[in-house]
Amino acid sequence: MARIDLNHIRHAYMPDPKSDADYALKEVHHTFEDGGAYALLGPSGCGKTTLLNIISGLLHASHGELLFDGKDITRLSTQERNIAQVFQFPVIYDTMTVYDNLAFPLRNRGVAEADVDRKVRETLEMIGLADWAKRRARGLTADQKQKISLGRGLVRSDVNAILFDEPLTVIDPHMKWVLRSQLKQLHRRFGYTMVYVTHDQTEALTFAEKVVVMYDGEIVQIGTPAELFERPKHTFVGYFIGSPGMNVMPVEIDGRNARLGGQVIALPGALKAKAGGSTELGIRPEYVRLGSEGMPVSVSKVEDIGRHKVVRASLEGREIAAILGEDESIPADPKITFDPAGINIYADSWRVETGG
Ligand code: ADP
Ligand code: MG
Repeated sequence: MARIDLNHIRHAYMPDPKSDADYALKEVHHTFEDGGAYALLGPSGCGKTTLLNIISGLLHASHGELLFDGKDITRLSTQERNIAQVFQFPVIYDTMTVYDNLAFPLRNRGVAEADVDRKVRETLEMIGLADWAKRRARGLTADQKQKISLGRGLVRSDVNAILFDEPLTVIDPHMKWVLRSQLKQLHRRFGYTMVYVTHDQTEALTFAEKVVVMYDGEIVQIGTPAELFERPKHTFVGYFIGSPGMNVMPVEIDGRNARLGGQVIALPGALKAKAGGSTELGIRPEYVRLGSEGMPVSVSKVEDIGRHKVVRASLEGREIAAILGEDESIPADPKITFDPAGINIYADSWRVETGG
């Protein structure tokens, strides 16, 4: 397994890119540590597959260098990079048996047949296809085929990294959970460097130690699930992660206070840097308190979702969401306050530090 450095990687699919908008990847400068389990999370079209294919060598970036363990491999082919990649849809040999499909990548590398057999059997167990070993892949269901694909990615232990590109899309929800847990165990056991692409926050947050959030061709934040929740570096991370996402509202900053329409909100501290451009306050629904004191709101909707309630209300003419415990009730004349611990301030969508 290897440490992967992406040095100032940019990529445009068009031949003569001029502005940032012409780049599918604007600038990615980042290191995937050896043995790390990363999720690459972002909406469709943000550049996840582009980045993964640049790492595996299916695509050569227009600018920048790629290093494996400090060695420049930018110009090496996929084969030479020694990476396993699992795609969204099955890539298997229909005419081969399930067993031979898994054995193929090993035999291809000249692994001794006894070792091939051991690894293949182990992998078949893991993907739950041990009973299907002798069957031809043709005629299997879409999710069985995808499990074979997954198995082909996992069967080799000598790879520099294993890349997964939304590999569980065609798998049913229960099996998804099972396979994801197995991937996680595998990571703990063998310490593979794994990069797992998904647009599903639950998948990302349960799989990864570090989540890399992408938006519009850029990495906007890399952090643990807790960091992404507590301190979203970009308003996009606030919206995209969480359910419902972070409330974001335009404010004016005045010393240690933020002004929202006619309301004044105390900040946890003064801004460390002067916020230029448009200034916004972000607060997750979990930190919005409903009571008999604070800023007046009108409640428009209450969604009961088991362990808690999501309250939708209007504050100074803008919609705001709050999360309440299942036993908490909504006061007759509801007012809200913000827990200072949950307040983040953004200038032109990027978080500004507060303190002092
Ligand atoms: P994701 O995997 O996050 O959905 P992609 O990396 O596939 O995103 O795509 C990023 C951007 O690059 C999108 O705007 C997409 O339309 C564009 N793109 C992807 N592949 C190609 C291609 N082969 N040719 C031209 N544009 C492409
Ligand atoms: Mg993709």
